[in-house]
Amino acid sequence: MSSDVTAHATNEELAARAARVIPGGVNSPVRAFGSVGGTPRYFVSGRGAFVTDTEGREYVDLVGAWGPALLGHALPVAVEAVQQAVARGFGFGASAPAEVELCELIVAKLPDVEKVRLVSTGTEATMTAIRLARGATGRPLIIKFAGHYHGHSDGLLAAAGSGLATLALPGSAGVTAETAAQTIVLPYNDVPALERAFTEHGAQIAGAITEAAAANMGIVTPLPGFTARLLEIAHAHGALVITDEVLTGFRAGPTGYWGLERDQVPAQLRPDLFTFGKVVGGGLPLAAVGGRAEIMDLLAPLGPVYQGGTLSGNPIAATAGLATLRAADDAAYSRLAAAADALAAEVASALGAAGVAHRVQRAGTLFSVLFGDFPTPPLGYAEVQRQNTAQYGAFFHAMLDAGVSLPPSAYEAWFVSAAHDAAALERVVSALPAAARVAAV
Ligand SMILES: *Cc1c(COP(=O)(O)O)cnc(C)c1O
Repeated sequence: MSSDVTAHATNEELAARAARVIPGGVNSPVRAFGSVGGTPRYFVSGRGAFVTDTEGREYVDLVGAWGPALLGHALPVAVEAVQQAVARGFGFGASAPAEVELCELIVAKLPDVEKVRLVSTGTEATMTAIRLARGATGRPLIIKFAGHYHGHSDGLLAAAGSGLATLALPGSAGVTAETAAQTIVLPYNDVPALERAFTEHGAQIAGAITEAAAANMGIVTPLPGFTARLLEIAHAHGALVITDEVLTGFRAGPTGYWGLERDQVPAQLRPDLFTFGKVVGGGLPLAAVGGRAEIMDLLAPLGPVYQGGTLSGNPIAATAGLATLRAADDAAYSRLAAAADALAAEVASALGAAGVAHRVQRAGTLFSVLFGDFPTPPLGYAEVQRQNTAQYGAFFHAMLDAGVSLPPSAYEAWFVSAAHDAAALERVVSALPAAARVAAV
């Protein structure tokens, strides 16, 4: 049986086969191990904090499907709910109860989200949010911050983080100069630059999009007061603010990173639109754009801003998201926070003991590790690009050999889950000293 052959193929064999039929052997660039070298692992299963590759090797997983595995892989309540949903049919191209329930739950959890539209990817969510900002204001320009990643739509690839940071690409071929010219890229955490952009172009700016906390160039949080100033300046010029919580939403904290900042921001200053993905789909292809009803109601069929999708709100994906968000209770977030705190401290101590210069960056329960000399927290993209990616590559492979799967790029956050219990953490901790010594050479 060909499926048996696949199950027993080695990582090397699968990589060779993939290279023949898939560009670069991968369906999303970071998976290619381009910046760390070596052969990507082909995973066949995951359970809780662990994943198993095609050769039967088990790893503690710190990628977490890039975020969705908030409560661990194959969460039993989600598996059961999804199996039941699958048995009822894969989707109908018509509305289904699960999407209503998921949108109700999102609105109930998030005080600044009054209406939600479900889509299939984070890229679609930010694309739709941008179109809404332009539709609401009748203006063309969008502000984004260097190193922030908002998916791969044309206008948002300028100076983006994540895969582009990993590959050191400034943007992408295939984006026209006209499209790129509609995006103003500013340094993050730089209020004077923001003020200047609005002074010069204010009447033309539809909105600013920001990650709630930057998490695709490693973690870089907004400085105290930055988010409030962004909201204040944008609103004073009649522009909208889109807070991209595709990565941080339901993960940095129960109500995302904005939820951690909200109380420090004056009540009249609220983002107009939010985007969600990753956790919100529980690992299936689902994402969302939400926000003020007045703006959301500009979407078709009520309003003039068109957006649609054959698979949008797919009942199986909506069921996975619903089961995950329902299971993400206070106890789960406490376990997640405890696991993140413990691991971040252990990493710092192992690297410190081996004399490896580093800085641990935090955003709620998210953290990332910068290799290199960073006496003060980096504020933006220019600074994090000074990190030592070769050192990270050596550390990454030593950890992988010891059975710990880290993100294959120095520019990504480490994703722990509420399922990273003492046994899982112990395995990581025991791998750290040797990997830190490898990184020290
Ligand atoms: C992952 C991500 C996206 C894009 O989501 P996809 O589902 O990969 O299209 C957008 N914004 C942020 C902040 C992300 O982390």
